Amino acid sequence: MNFSIKLLLLFLAVFGFIFFMKSHSESSFDCGMAYSDGKPLGNEQCVKIDGSPVVVQTAEKYYVMRDAAKKDGVNLSINSGFRTYEEQEYFYNCYLTKSCNNGNFAMPPGYSNHENGIALDINYHGPNYAWLSTNATEFGFVRTVESEKWHWEYRPGSKCNEFVNYTCN
Ligand SMILES: [Zn+2]
Repeated sequence: MNFSIKLLLLFLAVFGFIFFMKSHSESSFDCGMAYSDGKPLGNEQCVKIDGSPVVVQTAEKYYVMRDAAKKDGVNLSINSGFRTYEEQEYFYNCYLTKSCNNGNFAMPPGYSNHENGIALDINYHGPNYAWLSTNATEFGFVRTVESEKWHWEYRPGSKCNEFVNYTCN
């Protein structure tokens, strides 16, 4: 092998390695401490969907639903997925002061299901909401907040009842 071919092979190996590391690191990342009922659960691994971090296990379920919706000509997208304690603190403060995030309802930091990774805020405009209402349960996603058509949680086999104040057992 002459020198220039060796150099080319070296270049390809280095480039390939960098490309592999880059695509690998983008597939999942540490998105911070998860919380439930005010208690830390440990750090979660997330992927990015539509710019929002989503816990890997929830993302895998969401992809199945998103693909099914797409086959019906419905394009689901996400506005919010996993949130850190600090992010939830911000939204909770918005809710208390009504000065940001439209003053939307938010649980106190540590208590939102966005912090344990099962909650997704899904774009509900156009045909999306009707599709979700009919099909989401089949994929394990249920609506749990009466005033928020966008808020869905992955609770497979849950007995969430939209007619009884969106309570879940
Ligand atoms: Zn939400």
